Amino acid sequence: MRALRLMNWKSDPELVEVPKPTPGPGQVVIKVGGAGACHSDLHLMYDFDGAALPWAPPFTLGHENAGWVDSIGSGVTTVKEGDPVAVYGAWGCGTCGRCRLGVETYCENLAAAPVPGGGGGLGLDGGMADYLLVPAERLLVPLPGNLDAATAAPLTDAGLTPYHAVARSWPKMTPSSIVMVIGVGGLGHLAVQIVKATTAATIIAIDMKADALDLAKRFGADHLVTSGEGAVEAIKDLTGGRGADVVLDFVGSETTINLARASARPLGDVTIVGIAGGVVPFSFFSQPYEVSLQTTYWGSRPELVELFNLAARGLVKAEYTTYSLDDAVKAYHDLHEGKVSGRAVVVP
Ligand code: NAD
Ligand code: ZN
Ligand code: ZN
Repeated sequence: MRALRLMNWKSDPELVEVPKPTPGPGQVVIKVGGAGACHSDLHLMYDFDGAALPWAPPFTLGHENAGWVDSIGSGVTTVKEGDPVAVYGAWGCGTCGRCRLGVETYCENLAAAPVPGGGGGLGLDGGMADYLLVPAERLLVPLPGNLDAATAAPLTDAGLTPYHAVARSWPKMTPSSIVMVIGVGGLGHLAVQIVKATTAATIIAIDMKADALDLAKRFGADHLVTSGEGAVEAIKDLTGGRGADVVLDFVGSETTINLARASARPLGDVTIVGIAGGVVPFSFFSQPYEVSLQTTYWGSRPELVELFNLAARGLVKAEYTTYSLDDAVKAYHDLHEGKVSGRAVVVP
């Protein structure tokens, strides 16, 4: 079968032939129907050198996957051949307290996890391939009948990550609150929809690309701000001088983190989701009083189920462009050059 593999840090991935996986006891092989291209893969391909990560190439990319059950290992009882499924991408040990709660992003027995702090496409072989080996059936979520695999795939990360970040700040998203979304790409355009579907807050979307702001508008953003000079003043104007109650930063550069905290209302939340690596000084006076500055990583299995509920009801839908597996490198190049609207999804 074909697989798009990252062979080394700081390199383009390569499409190569590899053996089709066979499921061992408790495992499931998925025929991939959609694998999203995440901006994190660009960080993996071009920015990281492995220093911060407990795993390394080579592995097949693609940590945002959905498809159909191709074959099951002995003992698998909850899915059968042909079932449409999405794959929860953070693969923990499955038995520690956090994993039992479904928060496998923070597995506390990493030695027993398939890969420490990763999953398919993050240290182990992912879904940018004809088939994907999933190490345990609990990591599969059945797809609602009205969602096809390519539509579902981006929800497992580009949707789940903002769902988790939004849910963490729900108490501060009252009907009179203002929520600011910085970066309306793969994650950000779903963040706008998730805020819209789950709260009555007013949404300000910020990006530097006109087409990203159009996307935000189409999915329910109330106000649009072009990033850059004047953005903080524009936000102060739009919020009557108060600032935003919750700021979700899907870029994470020094510029956007500073924009985020300069725009926050006292008692608000600033959540850094983007991994651009911005570093800012933090002190008593570096943001308005009692603003919480926090990061979030991906989301939990129960949150993915909740998100599919929203998607099945038509309240959240990823905007995406499909690419063949042969064009997967082009998908990443397009993402790198800012040419993708919403998500790029590889359909083998
Ligand atoms: P993307 O490339 O699809 O979208 C990024 C968007 O941000 C684009 O629309 C771009 O125009 C915009 N942008 C860039 N610089 C900006 C600026 N200075 N001001 C305003 N807008 C700006 O990327 P994505 O796949 O949505 O990922 C976004 C970030 O989130 C990446 O850093 C990615 O690695 C990270 N990420 C984090 C998690 C997590 O769990 N924390 C999960 C997935 C992705
Ligand atoms: Zn990702
Ligand atoms: Zn665990």
